Amino acid sequence: MKRRRFGATGVDLPVVGQGTWNIPERGAGVKEAQRAIRRGIELGMVHLDTAEMYGAGRVEELVGEAIRGFARERLFIVTKVLPSNASYRGTLAAAERSLERLGCDYVDCYLLHWPGSHPLEETMRALETLVEQGKTRFAGVSNFETREMIEAASYLRKVPLACNQVLYHLCERGVEHSLIPSARERGIAVVAYTPFGRGSFLRSGSGRQACEAVARKHGATVRQVALAFLTRESGLFAIPKAARVEHVEENAEAGELELDHDDIAQVDEAFPRGDPGPLATL
Ligand code: NAP
Repeated sequence: MKRRRFGATGVDLPVVGQGTWNIPERGAGVKEAQRAIRRGIELGMVHLDTAEMYGAGRVEELVGEAIRGFARERLFIVTKVLPSNASYRGTLAAAERSLERLGCDYVDCYLLHWPGSHPLEETMRALETLVEQGKTRFAGVSNFETREMIEAASYLRKVPLACNQVLYHLCERGVEHSLIPSARERGIAVVAYTPFGRGSFLRSGSGRQACEAVARKHGATVRQVALAFLTRESGLFAIPKAARVEHVEENAEAGELELDHDDIAQVDEAFPRGDPGPLATL
């Protein structure tokens, strides 16, 4: 699994990690989803993304159970505070609850899930307090426009803004216009969420054909091509969610796939970047 520098944190992370939104929260699917997470970790997908929002905390508990037995320092656990909780005190309290559910003393990166109504400066100050308290190693944001991302970074005095987690997939490439270049310039990692775009790229006839052609050339799958494309440059990461072991195994292999100039041009042509516009979110 290819690893690269996670922004200005000094930490190297696998280019493909694991999302956990909508993993089954009860029934037989829970064990399979936890097996999938563990298999992913064994294959090097140690960047685990969750949030207090997912299953109203239930997903953090399931992730906490799934990671038991792995050396904590091998993992990179990311969770997020809801904007409605993101006052200074609210953020500190939300982080405690997340740590409790995860069964961890610290997370690796704590994000503001999306911009909200609490003053951003206050939330970022709380994230820095959590870093000082050793409850998170790094601070980040999600669903932040370029301008908001720069503003968030400006409020951090002691740690760099580690990442901005944004919607990015083959049919939604708007972040390539200004967000990705601005993030790279500032040493902020960009993490692609919903990298399969709910399967939209597979429904585009000519786009799918282009991915299939590239996939055939490399003995890969179209989803692996999509993930390799999204992580084709420095500073880019993707966190597909897979609650099935065979899906995790396929996604992990994408972390080895290196697209050449022609492959990238082919996918680029099949899925035009489009015009700049407001940041797309789910
Ligand atoms: P996604 O990863 O693009 O797609 C997930 C779907 O793809 C699931 O149905 C999954 O099936 C399927 N899948 C995964 N790997 C596959 C494979 N190799 N072959 C066939 N199907 C495969 O969508 P997402 O869950 O929306 O996004 C990923 C993660 O990003 C989330 O889980 C979450 O952690 C994060 N996220 C963050 C935000 C935010 O606001 N920050 C918003 C959305 C998502 P199975 O589950 O059945 O394996």
